[in-house]
Amino acid sequence: MRLIDSHVHLDGLRDADGAIARARDAGVGGVVAVGGNLETSSGALDAAIRHPGYVFPGIGVHPADALKVDVGEAVAFADSHASEAVVIGEIGLDYAYGFAKPSDVRERMRALYSGLLDVAEAHSLPVSVHSRSAYGDALKLLRGRDVPGAVFHWFDGPLHVLREVLDAGYYVSATPAAIYSRGHMAVVSETPLERMLVETDSPVYLRHEARDSEPSDVRLTVRAVAELKGVETEEVAQVSARNAEHLFRLPPV
Ligand SMILES: [Zn+2]
Repeated sequence: MRLIDSHVHLDGLRDADGAIARARDAGVGGVVAVGGNLETSSGALDAAIRHPGYVFPGIGVHPADALKVDVGEAVAFADSHASEAVVIGEIGLDYAYGFAKPSDVRERMRALYSGLLDVAEAHSLPVSVHSRSAYGDALKLLRGRDVPGAVFHWFDGPLHVLREVLDAGYYVSATPAAIYSRGHMAVVSETPLERMLVETDSPVYLRHEARDSEPSDVRLTVRAVAELKGVETEEVAQVSARNAEHLFRLPPV
């Protein structure tokens, strides 16, 4: 079975190399390791060297860290390492954080996101976008950018924005939240399989199993998507893997 976990924070896993071995055993053919700041982006690049052809790295700064980095420094770092990455991500906006209420903080997030979109354009890399509570702005700033593609990861925004995301030609990724979150279930139901990736966002906590996730759990996502769409798990795995290979220009599993 072809199966790719398209969004993992390897740095957050207690035993990343063990988790990768378990993912291989579970039939996961590859993982996209996103970066959340400069340190974890470096970690993703290093993990890709340790696991060639299996871990595919991203460079990004998560909006949660928008106040902890210098925008110029982040952009320079991403620019200098872009040739080693398959994606610029995780990047984006998140207006749900308590610290993100003031308009100048949101402006700072948008400046960081825009700066990293510049890097993606300059190096012709796709982007992995975080858009919680900022769905419209995240799309607005991306739209018209000359990037080869984008995935709105763990999208659970309103369906009218989802339709704009799909109309613009971008992908959406499903997570294990498709098991319990009504908003995310609605998004999965509405998104054609041909435009969907699957992920775990490891180590995000699996509330229905009361434990942290790891990449082998992408099978839970596949099963939830298959149930919501009334198709076989095999089809979800194959089509989402093909989509990930296309978006991130990965070698076929
Ligand atoms: Zn993430």
